[in-house]
Amino acid sequence: MADDSLREIRFSRHHTTGKELGYIAEAIAYGYGLTGDDGFTAKCCRLLEDQFKIPRVMLTPSCTAALEMAAMLLGIGPGDEVIMPSYTFVTTASAFVRAGATPVFVDICSDTLNINSQLIERAITSRTKAICPVHYAGVGCEMGDIMKLAQKHGLKVIEDAAQGVNAFYRDHALGSIGDLGTYSFHTTKNYTCGEGGALCINNSDLIEQAEIIYDKGTDRQKFARGLTDKYVWQELGSSFSVSQLTSAYLFGQLEHMERIKAIRQRIYTRYANELGPLGREGLLRLPTVPKHCKPNYHMFYVLAERREALQEQLKERGIMAVRHYVPLHSSPFGRAFNRDMAGLPHTDQAAKMLLRLPFDTGLTEDEQSRVILAIKEFYK
Ligand SMILES: *Cc1c(COP(=O)(O)O)cnc(C)c1O
Repeated sequence: MADDSLREIRFSRHHTTGKELGYIAEAIAYGYGLTGDDGFTAKCCRLLEDQFKIPRVMLTPSCTAALEMAAMLLGIGPGDEVIMPSYTFVTTASAFVRAGATPVFVDICSDTLNINSQLIERAITSRTKAICPVHYAGVGCEMGDIMKLAQKHGLKVIEDAAQGVNAFYRDHALGSIGDLGTYSFHTTKNYTCGEGGALCINNSDLIEQAEIIYDKGTDRQKFARGLTDKYVWQELGSSFSVSQLTSAYLFGQLEHMERIKAIRQRIYTRYANELGPLGREGLLRLPTVPKHCKPNYHMFYVLAERREALQEQLKERGIMAVRHYVPLHSSPFGRAFNRDMAGLPHTDQAAKMLLRLPFDTGLTEDEQSRVILAIKEFYK
């Protein structure tokens, strides 16, 4: 007899809305090939533009690709510096490093784990070209402060909103505030097509050039609109478009963004309520969401002194709770860029203490009860 109380609870599972296959069949039946910016690709882009008030959204193969395209579009190159947190995913930095720029790491806040906007100004030099805030766990960075600083110093802002789709800062969608924003639709994110992403272009001056870079460096998009009779190589670009199979799948998820968010909110709220007493007793720390931020409930983490022991005890009960980043400034490749001798204490602390609990739309009440009980028993 199967014993449900022993079945492994994975950290995150792939989820579907049930609409994806039908849309993929529709894309195939359409009969005009599976490429192009019309069809489901256009549907996804227009939906994101309308919902989040973004002048132009372009789907890309990944958030990483969108960040790399952002670096090209802003002409970031050798000698330039880009300010960002160290507590982030590799490609926040590598997208700019491969363009020849240097990442400058700034510490995070101890509560939200987002870049500390108060520490950004002293990291600005004559070589600084851009700031790349990362909205960790779908909670907005202090974008008001960051945009003011950028304006004062003539810098561009690229929001890494990989985790921030359908989350808000003072009623502005994450990804819609900086000159550019990037989204991820990787299988581990809230809305997914396996591998996918988007570039949000909020600075309208950049749209025309973005269309060229997106399309192999050609003016094919003008040609597609009948504005020219042939398309030719205009500047250095690459291939950033996605298959209609990808966008058809994604549309099946984006159409149900609110339903998915509501399920995630329920799971998040239960973790927060039931683990709240442990937080108040100071046994562990729970996530902080500033009043002016509306999150998308991307993840639920705890910060625990005895993280390894907690993780081990959960594992013994078949519960997969996972750590997150090795900070970039202490990674084998990123170490070379670490120039802040004062260190990044809150970054190091998050790396040492953070544990993400199982979280996906398929997490059942019984499974969540097991996770909560196991944590409570650890602290008994
Ligand atoms: C997931 C993630 C990325 C990378 O997204 P891909 O779509 O897998 O390229 C980049 N930055 C952050 C903060 C992420 O969480």
